[in-house]
Amino acid sequence: MCIFCKIVNKEIPSNPVLESDDFLAFHDLNPKAPVHILVIPKIHVESFNEVSSEIMAKMTPFMQDVAKEMGVEDSGYRLITNIGDNGGQEVRHLHFHLLGGAKLQWGHFADADPKDFI
Ligand code: 5GP
Ligand code: ZN
Repeated sequence: MCIFCKIVNKEIPSNPVLESDDFLAFHDLNPKAPVHILVIPKIHVESFNEVSSEIMAKMTPFMQDVAKEMGVEDSGYRLITNIGDNGGQEVRHLHFHLLGGAKLQWGHFADADPKDFI
């Protein structure tokens, strides 16, 4: 069983912020911003590549509720989902990072040129 499935099953503790029948939102263990929440479906879906449109349709209002719950709805925030090796996905259970609480930088992409990656 993957680590996020264990969090859903409460075999591993987490710091939850919002839960529904289908989704769970909890604080990232290693936050990269003042607000850094992970949002996951409770059923195991490996990545965005495999997720159904039905799950995504339900996940959208849940993520909007997480933004409200964290008080970043109006100040703004960023949603990221990493996919596979090149995307830098470490945990192979679909999750969206919801980052906010400060003006976010655009990381290395700010000055990046596609040629830099070759
Ligand atoms: P990825 O690189 O797969 O997009 O992101 C995985 C995220 O999960 C990382 O930001 C990492 O800090 C977080 N993470 C990994 N293991 C745990 C855990 O056991 N609990 C929590 N709350 N976050 C975790
Ligand atoms: Zn899983």
